Amino acid sequence: MYITVPFVDLKAQYHSIKPQIDVAVEQVLEETAFIGGRYVKQFEQAFASLYGVEYVIPCANGTDSLYILLKMLGIGKGDEVITVANSWISSSETITQAGAAPVFADIDPVYWSMDVQALEQAVTPATKAVIAVHLHGQMCEIDAIHAVCKKHGLYLIEDCAQSHFSEYKDVRAGLTGIAGSFSFYPGKNLGAYGDAGCIITKDEGLATQCRMFANHGALIKHQHQMEGINSRLDGLQASILHAKLPYILEWTKQRQQKAEQYRRLLNDVPQLQLPVDRPNSKHSYHLFVVLAQQRDALLHYLKENGVEAAIHYPALLPLLPAYSYRGYKAEQFPHAYHYQQHCISLPIYPELTEEQLQHVCTIIKQFYQQHG
Ligand SMILES: *Cc1c(COP(=O)(O)O)cnc(C)c1O
Repeated sequence: MYITVPFVDLKAQYHSIKPQIDVAVEQVLEETAFIGGRYVKQFEQAFASLYGVEYVIPCANGTDSLYILLKMLGIGKGDEVITVANSWISSSETITQAGAAPVFADIDPVYWSMDVQALEQAVTPATKAVIAVHLHGQMCEIDAIHAVCKKHGLYLIEDCAQSHFSEYKDVRAGLTGIAGSFSFYPGKNLGAYGDAGCIITKDEGLATQCRMFANHGALIKHQHQMEGINSRLDGLQASILHAKLPYILEWTKQRQQKAEQYRRLLNDVPQLQLPVDRPNSKHSYHLFVVLAQQRDALLHYLKENGVEAAIHYPALLPLLPAYSYRGYKAEQFPHAYHYQQHCISLPIYPELTEEQLQHVCTIIKQFYQQHG
């Protein structure tokens, strides 16, 4: 039998909870609660309570959430913000949008997240904040990063777009720094059926400012305290997210189990470097990334055999054409560059079947038998 393994399978997830989703959508339509209203409030409160955080500020996506935070922390012209060389462009483009300059730090070679020493070396008198990214669902060494920020008087923002419910030393992603930024893009661990995002924080003043800024600078209609932007979570997305919330912890557990299975089956493949969970952490496995020899040929071979794999990401942020004006070189980010040349993301999601997962591993082993 021919087995196919898509990279994500949002349809399978929809079908597993179809009655709940359909009701959630229908309620919003019947009440025409499209903007604001009780479904947004309901999700906001349920997410805050499940996540264990005082304030949740919903917004339009996980890029706006970073931008809103930078603006409301007063970051702008003349400031520098440090983020990591390997991430999605939201982590750096929002720094430029806010008027500041993005500065990139290398990653460490084992856990593939922001290297604390590289971070400290990147700090200058102009540095105002750090955006730490818990990429793939792997936690950064956030307590050490926090200590560096404290020492230099920097704001710490956590980009949690890939790390819903990840933990480090029993603290969830987004709860160590001044604020956390989440994306609910459909393919994320907790995904809407369109764009959505939020900010989380324990800081009441910052929460109020962010809420205002995301709503044209007004908490009460027509009472604009400042100019803001239009970045709203719509009622349909909020209602869908609320319907999915009761499953997220179980889904996260299933991702962790799939990761274990991958590790068991791929452990004896010397051409692969498997992901290692940071000690004392809970990885939420948004992505299962391995470093592979002959990566591009493997990617092609997987595709020929019905397996969709992906690359996160095909270029380091500082080496993108968008940042060519900065003149960065690959040698400045040796670990991130090595990672980027070899990384391949294998399919991982709660609905991935045993048979599919085994098929992925069989094809990988076949490839290396044929290609030494
Ligand atoms: C997905 C993602 C974002 C942005 O999320 P959107 O909701 O698509 O704007 C930001 N940072 C990282 C690391 C992401 O993976």
